Amino acid sequence: MVKIPTKILIVDDEKDFVEMLSLRLSEVGEKVTPAYSGQEGLETLEKTGIDVVILDIKMPGMDGIETLREIKKQYPLVEVILLTGHGSTETAVEGMKLGAFDYLMKPADFDDLSAKLEGARKRKDEQEERIRKAEANLLVRRTGGAF
Ligand SMILES: [Mg+2]
Repeated sequence: MVKIPTKILIVDDEKDFVEMLSLRLSEVGEKVTPAYSGQEGLETLEKTGIDVVILDIKMPGMDGIETLREIKKQYPLVEVILLTGHGSTETAVEGMKLGAFDYLMKPADFDDLSAKLEGARKRKDEQEERIRKAEANLLVRRTGGAF
C-alpha cells in the first residue's frame, strides 16, 4: 500500500528540535514544514495545506495556546498536537478543551508521536469524509435526486 504523506507543520522556538524532528518525519515519508514562532506558523497555514500541527506551548511572543486559538478559529479542521514541558500539563489539558487533538511531553518519544500523528490524521480524514457526504446529501435534496 502506498502511504499518503501527512502534511505536518512543526511550530517550536527550539530550532534544533524542529530540525531534528523535521528530518526524522521526512525520513518516514511525511511532508514537513518548519516554523519557529506562532506568527510564522499562522503565515505558513495561510499559504500551505496542512493536516496536523505539532505545536510547542512555551514560546516567546505568541505562545502555543494563543496560536492554537487562532488556528482553531481560522482552520477548524486542522488537527493540533501540543508539546509540553514538565509542569505544563494543565495548560495541555486547557489546550485540548480548546480543540487540540492530544499532547505530548517533551522530550517526545518518536513512536508515541507517530501514533498520535496517525490518530490526528485519521480524525481529520474522517471528518472531511463526513462533510463530503453531508454536502452530497444536500446536493441530492436540492435537486430532488434527479440529475
Ligand atoms: Mg519552547
